[in-house]
Amino acid sequence: MISVSEAYNIVLSQTTNYGIEEVDLKDAIGRVLASDVFADRPFPPFDRVTMDGIAISYDAYNNNKRTFQIESIAPAGSPQGTLQSNLKCIEVTTGAVLPFATDTVIRYEDLSIIEGSVTINSIVKQGQNVHNLGSDHGHDSVLLNEGHTIKAIDINVLATVGMNHITVIRRPTIAIISSGDELVSVDSIPLPHQIRMSNVHMIKARLTELDIVSDHFHIQDNEAEIQKTLTVLIEKYDVILMSGGVSKGKFDFIPDALTSIGVECLFHKVAQRPGKPLWFGRNEKVTVFAFPGNPVSTLACFHKYFVPWLSKAIGESYLSPSVIIRSDIAFKPNLTFFAQANIEFEQGKIYAKISKGNGSGDMVHTTMMDGFVELPKGKDVYKAGEVYSFIPFHSILK
Ligand code: AMP
Ligand code: MG
Repeated sequence: MISVSEAYNIVLSQTTNYGIEEVDLKDAIGRVLASDVFADRPFPPFDRVTMDGIAISYDAYNNNKRTFQIESIAPAGSPQGTLQSNLKCIEVTTGAVLPFATDTVIRYEDLSIIEGSVTINSIVKQGQNVHNLGSDHGHDSVLLNEGHTIKAIDINVLATVGMNHITVIRRPTIAIISSGDELVSVDSIPLPHQIRMSNVHMIKARLTELDIVSDHFHIQDNEAEIQKTLTVLIEKYDVILMSGGVSKGKFDFIPDALTSIGVECLFHKVAQRPGKPLWFGRNEKVTVFAFPGNPVSTLACFHKYFVPWLSKAIGESYLSPSVIIRSDIAFKPNLTFFAQANIEFEQGKIYAKISKGNGSGDMVHTTMMDGFVELPKGKDVYKAGEVYSFIPFHSILK
């Protein structure tokens, strides 16, 4: 049985490039740029007035002139005007093009205006309140780099350069498959020996949070049916996420079914708890993660292996912060232990308060937790104050 770090390295060595696609600006948040974004004009594109007030020639002020007649007005959105006489001024508004023959703007707060005659009441610096053409970025300069993940604040830049359509890294298409004769749909009343399927809905919801669309299928514990369904789905999707049917039970047909249809097993079983029976494999087209069906096992495998794999495949960064454990944890088996925990921030440090729950079937406990602390195998006791990796299962920074 391989270790968690061996399994992790195998998974991350198997990322595929899914190519590129075009999305509308409104759908671009969270997507990764497939090429640099350039300035189509200088930033700003003209000498931009930054205060409502008057524009003057600084020379006049420098020659001790303090009172100016208003010659005209230059509102934002009008073509560039010209100051005819430098003994006069032009009224301007924020966002206007600075008129020819002016170089300095004085805001209304520093003026008194009586019948079209303006007097300056403050010290004036040449060029004040003007955002000069190209002073942020020149024409054709790179504003956002290829590989950048588009966030809401980036939309400002993309909109300004007129990018209504954006070329981004394509995301894989994903099928989620539940398996098990005991599972019934959410809208059914389960018989005493049945349960409602939940895992797959949790996976789908997590994918939605990660902004990935997926389809769900269910198969019974029937060898022929499993083979038939998988044969169709591995042709149709880039990634298959399965839940259940990979352990040692008499009806755990999935590993054999996958290899029989040409999906190569890269590992089966990892020295970890929960999630030991995890199966991972691929053919030249599809990548398959087959998670054990217990809710906490699925949760651990999905976040430890699939999320970093997906981040790498689509060019996003993945962060697994280090945390300090609050108290001693005893764990005897020679397995890596994914211990559920809450995160606490204190004086610039991140602490994890571990709370074990009632085993890998106890899904209710997970709802109160923030993620897993990864306690590597090879120890019996993990001491308070020691530092380990944390695997969040939702955003811990709101
Ligand atoms: P398995 O991995 O198929 O041996 O299943 C392990 C446990 O997880 C069993 O108790 C299953 O009933 C349960 N289980 C499997 N799939 C799901 C699912 N989609 N939702 C909820 N529980 C499941
Ligand atoms: Mg099963």
